[in-house]
Amino acid sequence: MQLNIFVKAAPLLKEKKLNINVDTFIDFLAHYSSKDWIYPTAIHRKLKYDIKDIYDALELLREAGYIEQYLEIYCPGCQRYTGQYYKTIGEIPDEIYCINCDEEIENPLEHASVVYRVL
Ligand SMILES: [Zn+2]
Repeated sequence: MQLNIFVKAAPLLKEKKLNINVDTFIDFLAHYSSKDWIYPTAIHRKLKYDIKDIYDALELLREAGYIEQYLEIYCPGCQRYTGQYYKTIGEIPDEIYCINCDEEIENPLEHASVVYRVL
């Protein structure tokens, strides 16, 4: 059985009184390994928690040094993630083409969503 590094973060999350079941949340995170991308929307689909609470929980994990934050561009044309990740808003180019449908994504900043990567 794989070691779930997030178990150690459980007390930290419980302390914050988020509107999630911390144990279920931590169990779910066991699916992720180092360098995996965590999509808050995927957790939302699976666990049905409020997206805001999921972001709050993930932010706590980020502050605690378990995961890091990135921005990924979502293509409004084909409604898929483009697989282009940026560390900061400043790194996002003005012009981005979707690798899935080849369309230009206008105002890419508006289509950036926050994703996380396991350290
Ligand atoms: Zn596209």
